[in-house]
Amino acid sequence: MSKTTSPTPTAVIFDLGKVLLDFDYGIVARRLAAHSGRDAEQIRGLLDQSPLLHRFESGRMTNDEFFREVSALTGYTGVFEEFADIFGDIFAPIAPMIDLHAQLRARGVPTFIFSNTNDLAIRHIRANFPFFANFTGYIYSHEARAMKPDARIYEVIEQRTQRTGAALLYVDDRKENVDAGAARGWRVVHHETPEQTIAAVRAAGLL
Ligand SMILES: [Mg+2]
Repeated sequence: MSKTTSPTPTAVIFDLGKVLLDFDYGIVARRLAAHSGRDAEQIRGLLDQSPLLHRFESGRMTNDEFFREVSALTGYTGVFEEFADIFGDIFAPIAPMIDLHAQLRARGVPTFIFSNTNDLAIRHIRANFPFFANFTGYIYSHEARAMKPDARIYEVIEQRTQRTGAALLYVDDRKENVDAGAARGWRVVHHETPEQTIAAVRAAGLL
């Protein structure tokens, strides 16, 4: 290995949303709108990237508190189980990235999910996407009670993986999140397309 080549990372950290699964809060907004008096765009604004979702995903609200607050804000009249089904059903697989993950596992590379998320989404994903069972570990914002790019949740990754710095290869579609990883010396891939990310993983020596 030449002096200019970085050592091969020994674990890969995957963001979930827009990396392995696409998502669209427009779907849940339209379905909740059908059960309430509100306009779908208004409901989407209450959910997508909202302070309410931030509280839920940073572990400061229970599922029931979130359900009650969304119901109160939107006029939604359904029961919790129906709400949970609607709220979770916003994901679509990104096949080439799921295949990339399978290739890494087949080569024995430890892989971790690192996601700003919530319990309703994770329950739905676990029940509907078999690939999701095949990671070495899972670090979720609602359990860590901190959200990317807060340094505290990156420290959780380092504890759980028993790795730091360039031993970690981290893939995320949000620039502020990868920047926070790069600031700790992690090797990072700012995910824009599967083709570019697969090439970057190969360049890191993992494929
Ligand atoms: Mg993402």
